Amino acid sequence: MHLTDLRHRLRELGAAPLHERRVLRNWAMGRPPSAGKRSIEDFFPQRLRDALPALETELAGLARLRSEHPGEDGTRLLLDLADGQMVEAVLLPRDGLCISSQVGCAVGCVFCMTGTGGLQRQLGSAELVAQVAAARTRRAVTKVVFMGMGEPAHNLEAVLEAVQALGTVGGIGHKNLVISTVGDERLFDALEALPAGAVKPALAVSLHSTDAATRERLLPKAPPISPQRLIERADAWARATGYPGLVQWTLIDGVNDGDDEVEALATLLAGRRLMLNLIPYNHVESLPWQRPDMERAAEMARRLHRRGVLTKLRRSAAQDVDGGCGQLRARVQRTQPV
Ligand code: SF4
Repeated sequence: MHLTDLRHRLRELGAAPLHERRVLRNWAMGRPPSAGKRSIEDFFPQRLRDALPALETELAGLARLRSEHPGEDGTRLLLDLADGQMVEAVLLPRDGLCISSQVGCAVGCVFCMTGTGGLQRQLGSAELVAQVAAARTRRAVTKVVFMGMGEPAHNLEAVLEAVQALGTVGGIGHKNLVISTVGDERLFDALEALPAGAVKPALAVSLHSTDAATRERLLPKAPPISPQRLIERADAWARATGYPGLVQWTLIDGVNDGDDEVEALATLLAGRRLMLNLIPYNHVESLPWQRPDMERAAEMARRLHRRGVLTKLRRSAAQDVDGGCGQLRARVQRTQPV
């Protein structure tokens, strides 16, 4: 379901813009549609009141919590969709939430469990907001990152629709909405074409290597964009919005943790409004890639810092529950195929 369909249905039930906003806001905030100071009896038209219980059930079924897996640095949620598919979301520290933008993914990053299975289907914009609503029944969410399963640029319309909803009725600050992408000219073009007053999200771009050939090997089906161009466009967006962008770097032993990458990164990121996140790889049982030695990773971060690159060395979310992107879903599917 897309949010435009939902809005259309509400209007057909006689909802005025104020009613529509209240239903959407309550849902996105994880509350019942009727919540609020004024009772729905003297507020909503009769047809809308009659339809609310069924609508509430339908919206709750868009992303239903199947299981949760607490970890030291995040709690991974496995969510059932209405058609029996599953996606993962992660409750992050400081009220953050990482959500999925697709079931599966077509980019095929060689180190990612989701990438090995290909794309199953797109998520509708309502299913994106539904992940936030489901998480909010567990705890507060004040930041949403589109960094779970899927490539947001491959489901652009739905992602931008969800961003607009979350940044308005969903109560999330613009810079606390972060779209993570491997980089696609259409995504940058669409963001730059957003009208004045629209919700303008922050961006995180997945670089992983400064060498175009290595990057292509790691991200074989990513849209064609050179590392230089990716960083230029991310930097331009960060300057346009006024909040810094993120550069994501999954650190893999012997692949992209060498001195050559440190030197090239220092040059590529010099003077940019971008912060580098070094994320030591979560080993996936069936894949050959390994996490680098943490001291080596820390040294890489220190060297980049000395060269003027704002660098953070991250622990990967939920690493201690064996929960790299797509692993939970894959494990459940192995035992209970959809
Ligand atoms: Fe897709 Fe992200 Fe996995 Fe790459 S890392 S295959 S973009 S889900």
